[in-house]
Amino acid sequence: MKAAVVAKNKTVVIEDKKLRPLEYGEALLKMECCGVCHTDLHVKNADFGDVSGITLGHEGIGVVTEVADGVTSLKVGDRASVAWFFRGCGNCEYCNSGKETFCRTAKNAGYTVDGGMAEECIVSADYAVKVPDGLDSAEASSITCAGVTTYKAIKVSGIKPGQWLAIYGLGGLGNLALQYAKNVFNAKVIAIDVNDKQLALAKEMGADLTLNPKTDNVDEIIQKELGGAHAAVVTAVAKSAFNSAVASVRAAGRVVAVGLPVETMDLSIPRLVLDGIEVVGSLVGTREDLKEAFRFGAEGKVVPKVQMRPLEDINTIFEEMEQGKFTGRMVIDFTKKH
Ligand code: NAD
Ligand code: ZN
Ligand code: ZN
Repeated sequence: MKAAVVAKNKTVVIEDKKLRPLEYGEALLKMECCGVCHTDLHVKNADFGDVSGITLGHEGIGVVTEVADGVTSLKVGDRASVAWFFRGCGNCEYCNSGKETFCRTAKNAGYTVDGGMAEECIVSADYAVKVPDGLDSAEASSITCAGVTTYKAIKVSGIKPGQWLAIYGLGGLGNLALQYAKNVFNAKVIAIDVNDKQLALAKEMGADLTLNPKTDNVDEIIQKELGGAHAAVVTAVAKSAFNSAVASVRAAGRVVAVGLPVETMDLSIPRLVLDGIEVVGSLVGTREDLKEAFRFGAEGKVVPKVQMRPLEDINTIFEEMEQGKFTGRMVIDFTKKH
């Protein structure tokens, strides 16, 4: 079967891979589609270490074609996800306290185990979340990482209805952060991006205020006009956005870090202490978070903007992503020959 495999030279090659037989508790998915996340770009660039040989993909949706012994949560014909949180140990303090994504021995699809950017994928059945009827597979694929990650990050932000949430970065993740913030959490949203195309889409989707750091003094405007944001979610892949988020929240505000630029942010200790600022990281979401995030998609409260592409476009998609050429999410389509 064809798979998008990380190569040594910061590129991805389409390879023919042979899958091993299923083991106890596993299921085989025939993949329908898989979204391309900016994390895949970090992974193929070896930003988090060399993982050459691994099949990419953690926004995968496939149909179950086979189940091994011991599988009770999925049956042949079900649609299920291949997410970054691929499997936890199931028996540690994190797994047992609703923080399973931080399990110290968790496996991550498309990073430490072969992911969903392939014609077929083996999953641990209990960790592959079922896609509800009425939710399109391409839309479900975006929710499998971009959706659940931002839904969870907004939960972590503690934002309440009517409060101001600053969202930094309105790309694949940020566009869904905006929709969850507005349509599920009922927050007021300030959308901040360096790319006017992303801001125009954010405005169309209901952002209450849009700001571009290239032309606007973002934190000064947020402090002066709104008294500061109650919280910020940062998906931008730039240190400057993290620094601006700390400056733009009001006293006792919380900054939720989601983006993964390989950098160090500045954090003024007097600002942290005297203004009671909180800075916290948020990593994807649990299986329960994903079920909830899917449900809001099925209800039509959140509608990912997706464009289907053939597997062969993968390196071009990464170039387009780096250059900020598209809005929404590019999704690899495995259902038809292009
Ligand atoms: P994307 O490329 O689709 O979007 C990034 C957006 O940030 C773009 O719109 C870009 O214009 C904007 N941006 C860049 N510099 C900026 C700046 N200085 N200020 C404001 N906006 C700026 O990427 P994505 O798929 O949305 O992923 C974003 C980041 O989130 C990546 O680093 C990815 O690895 C990370 N991520 C983290 C998690 C997690 O669990 N924490 C999950 C998924 C992705
Ligand atoms: Zn992702
Ligand atoms: Zn664990």
